[in-house]
Amino acid sequence: PANLMEAVVSLAKRRGFVFQSSEIYGGLNGFFDYGPMGVELKKNIRDCWWNDMVRRRDDIVGIETSIIMHPKVWEASGHVAGFSDPLVDCKVSKNRYRADQLFFAPVVIDGTTHGYVSALESEKTTEDLQAAAELFKRKKAITGTLSPVVVKDFTEATADEVTKIPSPATGNPDLTPPRAFNMMFQTNVGAMTDASSVAYLRPETAQGMFVDFKNVVDTTRVKLPFGIAQTGKSFRNEITPRNFIFRSREFEQMEMEFFIHEDDDWAKWHRYWINWCKDWLLSIGLPESHISEYDHLKEKLAFYSKGTTDIMFKFPFGVQELWGIAARGNYDLTQHANASGKPQEIFDEATKKKFVPHVIEPAVGLDRIFLAVLASCYAEEQVTDEKGNTETRTVLRLSPRIAPLKIAVLPLIKNKEQLVARAQALYAKLKRKYACFYDETGNIGKRYRRQDEVGTPYCVTIDFDTIEKEGDTFTLRERDSMSQRRVTETELFALLEEQVY
Ligand code: ATP
Repeated sequence: PANLMEAVVSLAKRRGFVFQSSEIYGGLNGFFDYGPMGVELKKNIRDCWWNDMVRRRDDIVGIETSIIMHPKVWEASGHVAGFSDPLVDCKVSKNRYRADQLFFAPVVIDGTTHGYVSALESEKTTEDLQAAAELFKRKKAITGTLSPVVVKDFTEATADEVTKIPSPATGNPDLTPPRAFNMMFQTNVGAMTDASSVAYLRPETAQGMFVDFKNVVDTTRVKLPFGIAQTGKSFRNEITPRNFIFRSREFEQMEMEFFIHEDDDWAKWHRYWINWCKDWLLSIGLPESHISEYDHLKEKLAFYSKGTTDIMFKFPFGVQELWGIAARGNYDLTQHANASGKPQEIFDEATKKKFVPHVIEPAVGLDRIFLAVLASCYAEEQVTDEKGNTETRTVLRLSPRIAPLKIAVLPLIKNKEQLVARAQALYAKLKRKYACFYDETGNIGKRYRRQDEVGTPYCVTIDFDTIEKEGDTFTLRERDSMSQRRVTETELFALLEEQVY
């Protein structure tokens, strides 16, 4: 489609994947609901992650920690002091921008700076700002040679520049200098609403693993290297939530802290987990062509960080972070040991020494994976039916692992008792194991299309051959190839068993 993002958002709404939160009240910016199809897709992605990350491994255990934790957790972790984005206000329009998403370029003509042009990240390209600079020159009737523009973001602006850069909303220089805006949502615990009762909705799930580290070590038989994983909601008061569910204010994370010996080769484990995450994304059906890596610059890392690599994904709006894999040293456990007074060490039998383990953290957003899946599996194709008519078929090429419905059971016609009875018997048997759908209304082609649109990989049709010929076979129709073949019930279950894991 010409506008893939629009097509995906529209399908998500039309077929019950994602709705705006509180839509009848006009929605709430940065919050979303998952509909009947969406909740299944999301659960399947989460379950695949949990099975592959926790259940199918011997070295990783799962936990589920509370969303509201002791406020000291967020002091020790550094979030109270530092979990902020640089915020810029427009004094006139009252718009707010993240300073690192607000770009500007000086308009330099014959070596003299005559003014500035600005743009938001979503529109930012060097060409756009170059064009804006040309326009500036023409409007001000300045003659001379315009230099190629140098694009910077607002956090790099000097104090003098801040007073002159035009706001994208008004075109006038009415922006404030950037100030730190803490993104944690605050609330109060208990009946008193004062400073002593302040608490935060967690902005990440990771701290739960650090705070429960000792409990896990003391109650299980884990031995280094080992990991602790959890999935759950996180909350960030993002200044500019956008791109649908890519950046929202309430979202779900899937995080794992992999603890290693202080003398172990962190770089080896870091690479191991980057590769694991990439392979896992392929296993749920994301295309390799859309996946790349980005290494954070050493100078931009926090002092304790040894290295961070992001797995990037080609979204319809550009290549963006999907999964961050950070080597965090032993910073987090050390911080909590210092703040709580409870040592967070492990005893090393070999050296008879205690030490604080180091950690590698793969952290991903479930909603972001969900969007990556929808956007890269969405296709519109021209198909021709038996009568030679062409039409557009919308199809979600979801992996059977994560598809909301694994199979649809369709009696060829609904007013033939024997067909319906056989179809319902098969449906009853299938749905004990698999999410499936029974549909007897409309012509068979229409019913196939309805399933194509929500990504159901298989349809099974109970037809006259089923009841009239020997062998109790059905027509199995594949979503992607649209090919059809006859299968028995045993073959059908064997196929699903192999494809859905
Ligand atoms: P960004 O730079 O995009 O704000 P981040 O680097 O702060 O993200 P992390 O703190 O590393 O993100 O969070 C880990 C993962 O959680 C991200 O890779 C992303 O998949 C997901 N995530 C973070 N913020 C959001 C959000 N506002 N909405 C949806 N998912 C998010």
